[in-house]
Amino acid sequence: MDTTSTPAHGVRAIIFGRQGAGKGTQCQMLGAHFGVPHISTGDMLRAAVRQDSPLGRAVKAVLDAGGLVDDEMMVSLVQGRIGQDDARTAGYVLDGFPRTVGQARSLDEMTVSRPINVVIDLEVGRDVVLARLSARRTCGQCGANFVATGAEAEPWTCARCGGSVGQRADDTPEAIGRRLDLYDSQTAPLIDYYRGGSRLVVVDGVGTPEEVFGRLCRAVEGALGG
Ligand code: AMP
Repeated sequence: MDTTSTPAHGVRAIIFGRQGAGKGTQCQMLGAHFGVPHISTGDMLRAAVRQDSPLGRAVKAVLDAGGLVDDEMMVSLVQGRIGQDDARTAGYVLDGFPRTVGQARSLDEMTVSRPINVVIDLEVGRDVVLARLSARRTCGQCGANFVATGAEAEPWTCARCGGSVGQRADDTPEAIGRRLDLYDSQTAPLIDYYRGGSRLVVVDGVGTPEEVFGRLCRAVEGALGG
């Protein structure tokens, strides 16, 4: 049975959200629900690094330092991806792009014939994501995430693969604070950019994953006039 619900004119969505807002999971669910690819630039870049491709070699140091890959490289990566058949015909959910106003302008230029039709800011307060990320523990071997209750002796053994589960180097309060500051300073001008064109919908990201997903689906359908 087909459980997807692709609107007639396609979904071309951008989702913003702080680290720890649940954006990656929600974007995957939205992509599956609307029958469009979830395009995460972070995932694409990490895959390029793992494959040791020319792109991966060019961006590895930037990714490791938590910096931004230059606009030209990002624009050509995204242009190539959204030009592929699946995205061209059905649409896409963009996650992690645009990250600068320059990227947003380029995206507008490359989507003139099929414009972005919904921009969502998945809003989860800084205190909430700080608490979520501080409690996150990650398996160093398989990458699975867990929530620490404070009662466990750390590191503990991963129930999935037997690896060692502990806190990521970038999940300490200081490092989390730095990443959140960077997100706020990068994203605020973009939010203004899209608010100006009246394309922005703010969605409350606090609640169960199912509640948040319901709100996101309604926001997409509302923006498309469905
Ligand atoms: P993410 O998984 O979205 O947090 O992305 C991981 C890393 O990939 C970021 O810290 C950046 O180094 C890089 N990156 C992802 N998307 C972009 C983008 N649109 N522009 C520049 N760098 C990006």
